[in-house]
Amino acid sequence: MNICKKCHNEFDGNYCPNCGHPQKLERINGRYIFSEIADVLNFQKGILYTIKELLIRPEQNIRAFISEDRNRLVKPIMFILITSLIYTIFVGIFHFEDGYVNYTDIKESTTFEIFKWVQENYGYANIIMSIFIGLWLKVFFRKYPFNFFEIIILLCFVMGIGMLIYSAFGVVRGLTHVNLMKVGAIIGLVYTTYAVGQFFEKRKLLSYVKAFFAYILGFLTFTLAAIGTGFFIDLIK
Ligand SMILES: [Zn+2]
Repeated sequence: MNICKKCHNEFDGNYCPNCGHPQKLERINGRYIFSEIADVLNFQKGILYTIKELLIRPEQNIRAFISEDRNRLVKPIMFILITSLIYTIFVGIFHFEDGYVNYTDIKESTTFEIFKWVQENYGYANIIMSIFIGLWLKVFFRKYPFNFFEIIILLCFVMGIGMLIYSAFGVVRGLTHVNLMKVGAIIGLVYTTYAVGQFFEKRKLLSYVKAFFAYILGFLTFTLAAIGTGFFIDLIK
């Protein structure tokens, strides 16, 4: 008899019948490295698949992730960290950022430091921002059967696509010097409103209106909280 290394079930054969874990792991070799890279990019369930599905059918895919299958899409927290990193890398290459967060006139204040941190850590900052937007969504959609954490998952996916939309417009600007960043921001907002509104209630116009205002209010309260925190710390100093 073998003992499963994962769930400690006793079994005969090569795979645990209880959890499917193999009795013996294959050694790491070139094929493993190749298949790991293929898995990450995979059009069946990797990051490219996730992006495609979230662009075409955000509502079905996010709902399915929450209640049916968590293996088809990239994990949401990972997704927003990766997409934010992509954005940061493209900003570094193409220098397109002018005023997503702009606070050059108040240097040497803590508020300035906070916004600088946001600019250098979009991944974490977006997760914090999703908490603010999530709270507004929870208030606006309190009669719907989604808890706060499920809403955070929704936002990680949706905001991740938002970061990719800004990145795409940034690259276009970097390459062609045609500044369409405002158009990019509007498309990002339209996508967010569409995806979140549809997630809660597809056929109700009000659902989209609430999604829009939750996003705007979340962004505003996040900004105010950052300014307030900076101001408060400077006051104590
Ligand atoms: Zn097992």
